[in-house]
Amino acid sequence: MNLQIYFQSTDDISNCQISWFVPINLGVEHNQQNSRLVVMEPSGRGRRVVLVPYPFQGHLTPMLQLGALLHRCGFSITLAHTRFNSPYTSHYPHFHFLPLSDDLDGFDTSFHNLLNVMAAMNANCLPSFQEHMLNMLETEDVACVIYDNIMTFVDVVATSLNLPTILLRTTAAAYMHSHLVLFHLIAHKRLPLPESEVELPVPNLHPLRYKDLPVQATQKLPEQVRQFLLSYMNIRSSAAVIWNTIETLDQWPLQQLQQQWPVPFFTIGPLHKMAPPLPTSLMKEDAFCLSWLDKRPPNSVIYISLGSMATINQEELREMARGLAKSDHPFLWVVRPSLLNGSSDAIESLPADFKELVPERGLVVDWAPQRKVLEHPAVGGFFSHCGWNSTLESLCGGVPMICRPCFADQMVNARYLTHVWRVGVELESVGEKSVEGAVRTLMGSDCGRGMRERAVEMKLEIERSVGRGGSSSESLHHLVNFVASL
Ligand code: UDP
Repeated sequence: MNLQIYFQSTDDISNCQISWFVPINLGVEHNQQNSRLVVMEPSGRGRRVVLVPYPFQGHLTPMLQLGALLHRCGFSITLAHTRFNSPYTSHYPHFHFLPLSDDLDGFDTSFHNLLNVMAAMNANCLPSFQEHMLNMLETEDVACVIYDNIMTFVDVVATSLNLPTILLRTTAAAYMHSHLVLFHLIAHKRLPLPESEVELPVPNLHPLRYKDLPVQATQKLPEQVRQFLLSYMNIRSSAAVIWNTIETLDQWPLQQLQQQWPVPFFTIGPLHKMAPPLPTSLMKEDAFCLSWLDKRPPNSVIYISLGSMATINQEELREMARGLAKSDHPFLWVVRPSLLNGSSDAIESLPADFKELVPERGLVVDWAPQRKVLEHPAVGGFFSHCGWNSTLESLCGGVPMICRPCFADQMVNARYLTHVWRVGVELESVGEKSVEGAVRTLMGSDCGRGMRERAVEMKLEIERSVGRGGSSSESLHHLVNFVASL
């Protein structure tokens, strides 16, 4: 049965505020002629879904967005979260929260120690997750647990309680597929290979070179890394996999992975476009930069950010600063306090004359409202580390990129951006001259204009995917029915 809400005129619709956490379903129809808004009865039917994110920004954000999306589709949402990097629970009044005892106080959670952080989290969170779930199952109808693949303890607990699980993959399928190829190459003794061969293309893996694989192709895999990658590639007892990607962008790798993992795939990205808007930042966003952008002409500003985790050294920071200063283009630069791999505050380490060189033209902030920045008409380019969220956000804004990948999936994303979608300039090394050259190419040349045109075409393609009848919308519809039936 449909719930039907009638409006007298279209003005009533534009004046009407529907709070986004009202559980409306996918089929919202607005007929301009008779001004009728039909809201389908939710198909989640209030069943509870438990979400377990991996507590780093690039993983937490899509899980929160998925929670908001499923809530809108009629599910009740519980988020089980570590105390470390806990989301701001007050931002999500419609979620329930289960804090997990991670025992990470005083633990070294820096980037170089991540494998140990993961191991500690998986060991420490298991008992409290088990206890919470046992309590919950006494009163609640839990449809399933959706978790980030790194939080492997979820599978142990869910299996013991006979609860179905679904994985959320927060990277492109192309990156996951490169792992399959990596293990194939190792098994066939093709890796490790000499330094002189890292630029060669990996057979049957266009556009990737050996140096774009998830680990260094010249070295034998350390055992701890091998174990992690095997676990990362394992979908365990999952009943399905949800992808924050778009079918048309990632089709071939998705097909390859589907042969490996014979469970339903739901490609429902980009989640930030599918979900209702919601705050997800762990750091305080600098709102001033938006009014600063308001004063700039369309497509004039280059936005620079290397995401939430990547680090660079002091020399590179200074080379970037000098290159930006010389490029003569306005820029908005996120210099996170933790951007330097030493202990010093990154902003303090900028060249002494930097402010004088770029008095009005440049703005440096700690952390930006990135999704809004990339949708701002003044932003004409994005100098990025090519994390998957940043990549999707840039494509959705129709913004071409300068690609400076640092680790993990970023090399794969960068290769697709530069060599398949052709919306990015590749920056192999960061020096004053190369930064200046890349900014000038992207912002001021015919080649850059071509990339911007293709980026706008991709933006339109993505809008079609998330729109009515598009591949991501259809896949969400199937996901809702699948979860409701579990
Ligand atoms: N981000 C942000 N403000 C910033 C820099 C980054 O809000 O100043 C957000 C960005 O919008 C993205 C996330 O942080 O959603 C970074 O995720 P991504 O996958 O791009 O990279 P990671 O941080 O995981 O390396």
